[in-house]
This record gives sequence, structure tokens and C-alpha cells, in this order.
Amino acid sequence: MTDVRNVIIIGSGPAGYTAAVYAARANLAPLVFEGSVTAGGALMNTTEVENFPGFREGIQGPALMDEMRAQAERFGAELVADDVIEVDLSGEIKTVRTEDGTFSARAVILAMGSGYRKLGVAREDELSGHGVSWCATCDGFFFREQHIAVVGGGDSALEEATFLSRFGSKVTLVHRRDELRASAIMQERAFADPKIEFAWNSEVASLEGDGALSGVVLRDTTTGELRTMDATGLFIAIGHDPRSELVRGQVDLDDEGYVLVEHPSTATNLDGVFACGDLVDHHYRQAITAAGSGCASALDAERWLAARD
Ligand code: FAD
Repeated sequence: MTDVRNVIIIGSGPAGYTAAVYAARANLAPLVFEGSVTAGGALMNTTEVENFPGFREGIQGPALMDEMRAQAERFGAELVADDVIEVDLSGEIKTVRTEDGTFSARAVILAMGSGYRKLGVAREDELSGHGVSWCATCDGFFFREQHIAVVGGGDSALEEATFLSRFGSKVTLVHRRDELRASAIMQERAFADPKIEFAWNSEVASLEGDGALSGVVLRDTTTGELRTMDATGLFIAIGHDPRSELVRGQVDLDDEGYVLVEHPSTATNLDGVFACGDLVDHHYRQAITAAGSGCASALDAERWLAARD
């Protein structure tokens, strides 16, 4: 076991790096576990980010995350590209284990994010950011006057479809059954939208396009028949999985697995444990909101530590 740190931060998206910047500038010398595969978080998988304030021309997702990382390092955050595989957050001194050792701290900030569920079809990753997206708020603007497909049948899918109909020439909602599970009000809104069409009993079989999406092949779930739809945008809205397994059984989670915090603070049910970003947020899920709550969690941790010094 190493020395007891002030703060350990688990996660390296906008939430984790922003928490690191704030904690480092408060002289807390944070130790940040970034993850071994996806250091930098969800934006490492995207291209243009046009809605993060401060970049009038937009910025590539990986470049934005490089800047955040470098900014955290500049102020003395120690960054380690390892996965945390086990935690004990119950005591006054919390411990965090990786393949390389066990680390301890007085406060821990959880910023592990959440994963967008994928369809699991070929070329989905390759065309991500090139027609395939998981976020209408982020990317809808890129699809003006284009035919957009949205996959899903819940409230989020209908919200995405309704939002995207502002931009697209047409939006086709692809759903594997012949009825939606979304709330009545969301359904009414979508049915009343002249730009929204429905591909019932349909699932995505494959994706077409050379460098960018040019068509979506749909399979009829009742007959198995295939047909190609000429959509150039595909928004996948089939849910998210918060990465909270690590803390399950220690930190209180909601029914969907998101970490519960005492709004407006980022405090969890455990003293000295704070949580931020998409790990707690099923509502906004934006880089700027994740960064904002990362800032809040560092300030909360700093004040919590100061009250005990
Ligand atoms: P994440 O970015 O998910 O980062 C969490 C990271 O923590 C993980 O990736 C991993 O590196 C690390 N981690 C997880 N578990 C562990 C562990 N056990 N040990 C160590 N490390 C761990 N938002 C916008 O505002 N604008 C956009 O244009 C935009 N485009 C997007 C495009 C795509 C393709 C996607 C997927 C998302 C997009 N978003 C966009 C949403 C935005 O990326 C997220 O809201 C934001 O990244 C959430 O930040 P976060 O820090 O909470 O989590």
C-alpha cells in the first residue's frame, strides 16, 4: 500500500479530467486512474465536437480530451492509464486496487461514465462519427436536410426522433416490434410530426457506405426480408449502461444502475465519496455537463477534506 492520498479520481472523461484540474489547482495532488483501454472517455470515439464552449470552429473529440488531460497534468495531477478493479470505500481511508497495486485516499471521486448500447452490427464502430451517432443533441446539426434513421422504441428514441425532425428532410424510426414502449405523450408527439415515419417490425441488419454512411439495411423481424433504406444518418437510442459495477453494493445506485448523489452536491451515501458525469446523469449526458459536475465534485471533495483538517 502506498501513502494515503487526499483524492483518488476514477475515470478520465470530461468529468474525471475536470475534477483533476480543480483538485490539482487546490493543491490536493490527485491520483487519476484513466482506464487502460478508453483513457479520455467517450469523446475519444467521435470526430467533430461543436458544442463545447471555447472552440468557435469546433474541435475533434480526441484533441479536446488531450487538452483536458494536459491541463490536469500541468497542475500536478498524477495520471495512470490503468483500470481500477476493486474498491473499498466504506472506511475513513478508502482503498482502490489495480493490477499493479493498492492505493489509498481520504476522498474518492467516481467518474466512470456510462456506455452507449451498441447494435452489434458490422461496421458500427468504423462509421461512428461518420453517419452513425448516439447523441442527437451532439450531432443532429450535421444532418440538415438528410434522411435520418433512429433505432429504438422508448422515450429516448422518440425524443431523439422528434428533435432530429428539426434538421432532417425525413426521420424514420426503426423499431423491432409493431408498437412502442415510449410514454403516451411522446408517442402522440411523434405520430403528429409529419417528418417522422415508422419502420415497424424492423431491425438493422447491416450498414452501407464508403467512409460515411449511405444506407441502412433493415431486416423484417417477422418475414426476415431485407431492404435498404437510403439514410445518411443513423442514431442509436437503445439505452446506456452506467459503469457502476465497480461500486455496486457499496454506493447507492438507482434502478438503472446510476450512482445516486445528494443533489445539488455530488456527495454519495458514503462519507468522502463523490460522483459526477454520465455515471450519475441520465438526463443531459453532454461533455459540458459532465465537466461541470466534475468541477462540482472536486469542490465538494476539497471542502469535505478542509472540514476535517
Ligand atoms: P466518459 O467520457 O464516459 O469517461 C469515463 C471514462 O472513465 C471511461 O471511458 C474510462 O476511460 C474511465 N473508466 C471507466 N471505468 C474505469 C475504471 N474502472 N477504472 C479506470 N477508469 C475507468 N457530448 C457533447 O457534449 N458533444 C458532443 O459532440 C458529443 N459527441 C459524442 C459522440 C459520441 C460517439 C459519444 C459516445 C458521446 C458524445 N457526447 C458528446 C457525450 C459525451 O461524450 C459524454 O457525455 C461525456 O463524455 C461524459 O463524460 P464522463 O466523464 O462522465 O464519462
